[in-house]
Amino acid sequence: MYNALLIKYAEIGLKGKNRYLFEDALVANAQSALDKVDGDFTVTKESGRVYALPKGECDMDEAIEALKHVFGIAGICPMLQVEDNGYEDLSENVCKFIDETYDKKDFTFKVFARRARKNYPLNSMELNQELGADILEKFPTLKVDVHEPEVELYVEIREQINIYSKIIPGLGGMPVGTAGKAMLLLSGGIDSPVAGWMTAKRGVQVDAVYFHAPPYTSERAKQKVVDLAKQVSKYSGPMKLYVVNFTDIQMYIYEKCPHDELTIIMRRYMMKIAEHFAKQEEADALITGESIGQVASQTMKSLASTNEVCTMPVFRPVIAFDKQEIVDVALKIGTYETSIQPFEDCCTIFVAKHPVTKPNINKIKNSEKNLEEKIDEMFETAVETAELIEIK
Ligand code: ATP
Ligand code: MG
Repeated sequence: MYNALLIKYAEIGLKGKNRYLFEDALVANAQSALDKVDGDFTVTKESGRVYALPKGECDMDEAIEALKHVFGIAGICPMLQVEDNGYEDLSENVCKFIDETYDKKDFTFKVFARRARKNYPLNSMELNQELGADILEKFPTLKVDVHEPEVELYVEIREQINIYSKIIPGLGGMPVGTAGKAMLLLSGGIDSPVAGWMTAKRGVQVDAVYFHAPPYTSERAKQKVVDLAKQVSKYSGPMKLYVVNFTDIQMYIYEKCPHDELTIIMRRYMMKIAEHFAKQEEADALITGESIGQVASQTMKSLASTNEVCTMPVFRPVIAFDKQEIVDVALKIGTYETSIQPFEDCCTIFVAKHPVTKPNINKIKNSEKNLEEKIDEMFETAVETAELIEIK
């Protein structure tokens, strides 16, 4: 019976003159989500309302599922949209809507009519009363409850008339593409995919860099990261994934620097290389999955010394999350199962038994002097030989 979906949008960040930019991005993102669904949908914007209208046979459940992946949507309402053929016809349609939506006629309800078009002969109050009375006459087992109704029945008089009673929650956030771009350091772990997802939720387009260290890290470990990128991109849209061969740099650091500083120095180079790709892609920030105190490289002092090499802001959306809180998001967005597959990570090879937890930046910089001979060249090579994988 449903012949349209009403898409309610969440927060509008750029109010006033720029509001249309947000709405247009939402329409475009909802449209591309629905393009992957069975059947033909058109997403349109009409006086502050966004609709998805099916053409011919369409799978509404699949469409709702797709829209649940689009940031910026607060709620999805399956509705019956009808032409205005006078009050009698509307009343019939409202009763038909109730009949087909609810098998058991044993609930309390309240009608929320809204006359957005002022030339309709009945005003909102009159519509509430008339429609309420007609419903009770047709279904005498129903009851009106104006304070805590089990069913809220919305009837909106616009060019057409919208009838709906269910608001399926969307993800909230802002449409991707309305807030610039950032470069995610994506590992195979639990945290970084969550960090990327959370940033995309605020409307940021996300590209990613992965550091692998063949032969110490395997093709399967890389495939796992590609799979994670694909899962995040179901929400964030097309993504560029740069796969950087980090082996030579890692070996060189291992050879030349104190082993307890290995992780920090390595992470400083990861940030530098990620920043290179960020600039190349015209991104304005980096994103990591770091969380205070999770491991030795994530103490305050360690975070400060990795941060020190960056000129761009570094976003760490899970910085104050407990592990379980990060896991909960990973489960919700479907990355957890992939993240827990046991493959080696380049951060865990060559790792010192007792890494420094309070690195001293001057000391680290001093150790890095040992790399002067070859590191620039290695940096160039790592950047030039990086593999670009386009996630659609
Ligand atoms: P994650 O679960 O995201 O792997 P983690 O708890 O394993 O995080 P670390 O290994 O210390 O923590 O990494 C911290 C952050 O550094 C990661 O969240 C990620 O953003 C980045 N990072 C670590 N390893 C890599 C890698 N091989 N490629 C790209 N980024 C990485
Ligand atoms: Mg990791």
